[in-house]
Amino acid sequence: MDLAYLNQNLGKDCYYETTVTRQDWPSLQSDTVADVLVVGGGLAGLSTALELAEQGQEVVVLEAQQLCGHASGRNGGQAISGFACGQAWLDQHLGLKAGQELWQLSLASLQWMQERMRRYAIECEPVWSYITVADRRRKALALQQEQAYMLKNHGHRMQYVEGSELQAHIGSQRYVAGLIDPASGHLNPLRYGLGLAQAAAAAGVRLFEHSPAQSMERSGEHWVVRSAQGHVRARQVVLAGNCGLLWQAPGLAPRLHARIMPVGTYIVATPPLSDELANSLLPTQAAVCDNNFVLDYFRLAADKRMLFGGRVSYTAATPSDLTETMRQRMVQVFPALADTPVAHTWGGFVDISRDRAPDWGQLAPGVFFMQGFSGHGVAATTLAGRVVSQAIGGDTTALALFQRIRQNPFPGGPAMRIPLLLLGTSYYRLLDWLS
Ligand SMILES: Cc1cc2nc3c(=O)[nH]c(=O)nc-3n(C[C@H](O)[C@H](O)[C@H](O)COP(=O)(O)OP(=O)(O)OC[C@H]3O[C@@H](n4cnc5c(N)ncnc54)[C@H](O)[C@@H]3O)c2cc1C
Repeated sequence: MDLAYLNQNLGKDCYYETTVTRQDWPSLQSDTVADVLVVGGGLAGLSTALELAEQGQEVVVLEAQQLCGHASGRNGGQAISGFACGQAWLDQHLGLKAGQELWQLSLASLQWMQERMRRYAIECEPVWSYITVADRRRKALALQQEQAYMLKNHGHRMQYVEGSELQAHIGSQRYVAGLIDPASGHLNPLRYGLGLAQAAAAAGVRLFEHSPAQSMERSGEHWVVRSAQGHVRARQVVLAGNCGLLWQAPGLAPRLHARIMPVGTYIVATPPLSDELANSLLPTQAAVCDNNFVLDYFRLAADKRMLFGGRVSYTAATPSDLTETMRQRMVQVFPALADTPVAHTWGGFVDISRDRAPDWGQLAPGVFFMQGFSGHGVAATTLAGRVVSQAIGGDTTALALFQRIRQNPFPGGPAMRIPLLLLGTSYYRLLDWLS
């Protein structure tokens, strides 16, 4: 299965591309030197590059294709507090004190994003309104437990809503309860990411597109990373290639590969809806996500189109009749959209780690990495960028916390990973269904 080809095809009809004017950045045509080389120009790489430039470091970014052309420019735009593994998992895994520190860092990262939008005038249509919904009683109980847990252990106050209070946020009969998180929200991720790129360039970062890093070797105090037309010599390297590393440069950091699994997820966008219809569906403009394992997530874009995401594909193959099956999922939630056509369909791969916990750390002296965002990277990439650039600047406190998370590789090697995950997903689908 050619994942690179599949991934490129999946991105072709992405609605966000119609909302930006892309600037073309040069490709690397000669040898150059930098303090830090960042491999990968998605939200993670660009956040890191900007942080490092703000610290005064000389930074080069090598992007294999286009900046934010992968998950970072195609996602649901939901900027969510916490981590995909869930806070209770982290607290149990690392102990409550460390869990509390990570939770506070995740909240801070949402503030840092907003600061960046202000400081660099990034117009990315942010809305700070977010609700997790449950489509059956047992799942509603899980929301209540989450609310109580977060208040008791992290002092984080969320509002549990049912009935008319829920209907005030979402005009759908499908859900029985919701949990409103005042810290989270949504934005146009491609506009945000390209805004970061502009800010980074203005701060002196040299950005190269269509310049895949192909190999990396140690040379004295430096690392030499080669692309087709030139190399970069740098003391420090940050690998922020996400799933793309698997297909752009499988030899670059093979130790990381078994720790993530590329999983496909998809979104459809309607044409802009009338104000009346849009307001009847999502009156408070909240981003919504359900709490099933195989989840649906949706929100209104700034021009009032519905962006509806969901499904997962663990086989890497794009599901057949994708547009129609996604449309049907959307209509199950919002029957009022039964006659509304789909204007765009796209998807991408998320980098799922085995426990869905962030996998950030140091691979070798001077080589850092960030992966395992597990579908939760819009906000967490900001944090990863700060944590890794602090480590590069000499303060490894926060990175050490993340490195305490034990990362279990997927069993079975590349050939077996997909069948095993398929089994796993079927099991969780069954659990969703049984509950
Ligand atoms: C459809 C979809 C919906 C999602 N919805 C949400 C959501 O609502 N909320 C949320 O928080 N998260 C969501 N996510 C996940 C989120 O988008 C990711 O966690 C985040 O974008 C990861 O950023 P990244 O920079 O690590 O990866 P990427 O965006 O994949 O960027 C990595 C970049 O590295 C480049 N690269 C790879 N290898 C090399 C190499 N050898 N040399 C040079 N460059 C290289 C790639 O070309 C790519 O541009 C979603 C993802 C998808 C696909």
